[in-house]
Amino acid sequence: MASSAASRNGAPRGGGGARSLAGGNLRSSSYKSRPSQLPGSTLRRSSTGSFAAAGDDGVPGRVRVAVRLRPRNAEEMVADADFADCVEVQPELKRLKLRKNNWDSDTYEFDEVLTEFASQKRVYEVVAKPVVESVLDGYNGTVMAYGQTGTGKTFTVGHLGDGDTASRGIMVRAMEDILADVAPETDSVSVSYLQLYMEAIQDLLDPTNDNISIVEDPKTGDVSLPGATLLEIRDQQSFVELLSIGEAHRIAANTKLNTESSRSHAILMVHVKRSVVSQDDTLSIENGNSSHFVKPLRPLIRKSKLVLVDLAGSERVHKSGSEGHMLEEAKSINLSLSALGKCINALAENCAHVPVRDSKLTRLLKDSFGGTARTSLIVTIGPSPRHRGETASTIQFGQRAMKVENMLKIKEEFDYKSLSRKLEIQVDKLIAENERQQKAYEYELERMNQEAQNRIAEVERNFAEALEKERLKCQMEYMESVKKLEEKMLTNQRKHGSDGIIRNECNGEDQVVSVSDEVAEVRKLLQNETQRRKASEEEVNKLNTRMGQLMQSEAGGDGEILRIHQLLEVETQKKKKLEEEVMILKSQLLQLSYEADQSRRYMERVGSGNGLNGTDSPSVNNGEKAPNSRHTTSNCSSKFDLAVGLHQILSYLESEDANVQIHAVKVLANLAAEEANQEKIVEAGGLTSLLMLLRKFEDETVRRVAAGAIANLAMNGKSSQTNQELIMTQGGITLLTMTAADAEDPQTLRMVAGAIANLCGNDKLQMKLKSEGGIKALLGMVRCGHADVLSQVARGIANFAKCESRAATQGTKNGRSLLIDDGALPWIVQNANNEAAPIRRHIELALCHLAQHEVNAKEMISGGALWELVRISHDCSREDIRSLARRTLNSSPTFRSEMRRLRID
Ligand code: ADP
Ligand code: MG
Repeated sequence: MASSAASRNGAPRGGGGARSLAGGNLRSSSYKSRPSQLPGSTLRRSSTGSFAAAGDDGVPGRVRVAVRLRPRNAEEMVADADFADCVEVQPELKRLKLRKNNWDSDTYEFDEVLTEFASQKRVYEVVAKPVVESVLDGYNGTVMAYGQTGTGKTFTVGHLGDGDTASRGIMVRAMEDILADVAPETDSVSVSYLQLYMEAIQDLLDPTNDNISIVEDPKTGDVSLPGATLLEIRDQQSFVELLSIGEAHRIAANTKLNTESSRSHAILMVHVKRSVVSQDDTLSIENGNSSHFVKPLRPLIRKSKLVLVDLAGSERVHKSGSEGHMLEEAKSINLSLSALGKCINALAENCAHVPVRDSKLTRLLKDSFGGTARTSLIVTIGPSPRHRGETASTIQFGQRAMKVENMLKIKEEFDYKSLSRKLEIQVDKLIAENERQQKAYEYELERMNQEAQNRIAEVERNFAEALEKERLKCQMEYMESVKKLEEKMLTNQRKHGSDGIIRNECNGEDQVVSVSDEVAEVRKLLQNETQRRKASEEEVNKLNTRMGQLMQSEAGGDGEILRIHQLLEVETQKKKKLEEEVMILKSQLLQLSYEADQSRRYMERVGSGNGLNGTDSPSVNNGEKAPNSRHTTSNCSSKFDLAVGLHQILSYLESEDANVQIHAVKVLANLAAEEANQEKIVEAGGLTSLLMLLRKFEDETVRRVAAGAIANLAMNGKSSQTNQELIMTQGGITLLTMTAADAEDPQTLRMVAGAIANLCGNDKLQMKLKSEGGIKALLGMVRCGHADVLSQVARGIANFAKCESRAATQGTKNGRSLLIDDGALPWIVQNANNEAAPIRRHIELALCHLAQHEVNAKEMISGGALWELVRISHDCSREDIRSLARRTLNSSPTFRSEMRRLRID
């Protein structure tokens, strides 16, 4: 494709139009203001026949050949005065006629025919300028002069024109054009000036350097002379001076070698290096996101070479060996020239082999003939008929050279260095920008942070002020409402106090009457049953006697005996049943007597105006709530023979009959309520049995009564301390804890809570209660919400706190309260002002105890307990608690400072 070929070669300046050649659509390279130089000849290019290893694509460019006729010199004017010139030029027809004789001549066509009047300027423009422009466009170029010595090769190519500007030759003019076109900041021009003599390359810029070797790039096949001096040219003046120096060196060298300039080849190599920016945008299109990115320019570098050659006189080719003493020299000089001729012949005739490697000249000019360079050849001839043969052969050489086809290729490569430099600069810029932004961002962040902190501080200040105001307001309102409520309560109490007592008395009487009736009835039943039992015992005895008689007589037979046996068994069963019934009745009787006794004593107390005892403690009475009974002795139970009875009751506890068990446990519980019995019960193993019931029994009643009995045994009596420890060692805490978790009936919970509350009063059990979940169980029971349960819980907490405070005072405890550890504080604070007096009192005491130990102060403050303590110290109706609270608050530095902070006096 034309476009891809163009993009690979780089787009030539000026954008020349497409031109079809030999049916193909190869695009010709565009040259500034140049007429097409491609003749209609068939395109000659075969890889085998190539002078150089041409690439796959390029622009065809035939070697252009111009012929220049030198004017007659002074000698010829004289010598050939009578003869006509051997050539006739027809420049307008680009033809040259070489006379054979007076009548006949051969006509040759050239690309340009330059007459003896052609100016140096015109010669340059016609022959060299297109090549120079090509070089500036990035192609290699060659301009070479060929001809017999004295025909004007040096005049055409190398004349410096010191005195006469118009006579300046191609080298000077070419450099002038090159320097005018390149940009000093991005481009560079440098030259080497060499002489090839006897197959040795000498450096005309450094005469000591006289055997420079040709180096061939194995990849591209490009030749170079790394040993040659390469000088950068910045201005025309220095170039002309350089040429003069070169010329002087040439003369000196040739004098030394005893030869003439015309016997050596002079070669000026001009290296032009130009930076260009690719106009094609394949790169950015491939990237696809050019909108985000600065369209990357594609830096290219063009390294082209202009070779200007002033060949040795061509006559040597033909005259080799004719002059004996110069044989070697002629051979060597002619080696290069004849090799050039052979190569051109081979190329012109499309030969398979081109002997490029035969000489140094052909190797150096590898790219100029059959290669990628644009090449112009100027053949110089003289007018003298005396040199007709020489002139003819020169013309033949030119004709053959015209057939050589080159394939022009731009010498362009991607400029990685420049790209990397540019990218580096860009990256540096971006890094700097990034750093700047980062700094700005950090600064902004810091500023915002500072601002936010200021704002927070201000909001906090405002909030604290508002809070303080609100708190004072609440306090006032609270105090007022408490006062009002208390007043209201007092008036209510005054109004309703007597009614309550009357009603209670009535109830009490009814209860006593009904219980007495029941007792009489049960007694009667018991008598009947005792009689029936006696009768059946007699019957059994009778039967036994009779059986003995029968056995003695042995006449009765087995059948009779069996019958009697069965009878006996039935009777035994009956007896057992009766015995059990008797036992149940006995226990019922015991219980009823006990209840009757309790009721009686209750009535007595109510009647005598005694109110409820402030320190409520549970005692068991069929699960009903009853007043404390431990200070009185029951005449009923005292009637009961404890030693015998206990033994029996404990054995009944193991009965298979649930009824019997329930009665037995109730009796045991009643007995345990009496302090006098407690020691004996425990001695007989009653406590163990009760714990066993807790462990074994699903029945709620049994568990409730058993827990009550345990609670009674753990009450603060003579042996309570021992009993409490016994409960602990027998796993009682865990059993109670489990029961607390399972039970739902408030009365069961009340008993369990009572039992635990009692244990809480024991200094030795504190740790155990905590570790076995006693405190948590206690707190867990508040879930039922029943005032009796809450009261027991509060009592337990008060007991516990009291023990802790005692231990703290004695110095045996110094850590934070286990109650606080187990999360009791929120409930304590919540219920510190519970309307039920027993709960309130317990908690008030608990708070005072907790507050006495400084390690608790922090948690108490954050938990809100301080407020309650303050309230207690002001409002508690009990003077002792009030002053205790006040003392406690005053003795704690933490509380004092917090109160100061909150401005509480
Ligand atoms: P060559 O290098 O081919 O041996 P020169 O360039 O040395 O030939 O030319 C020989 C002489 O002829 C020089 O004195 C030169 O000035 C002169 N001469 C050559 N060509 C011309 C020309 N076109 N016009 C005038 N004088 C010329
Ligand atoms: Mg010369």
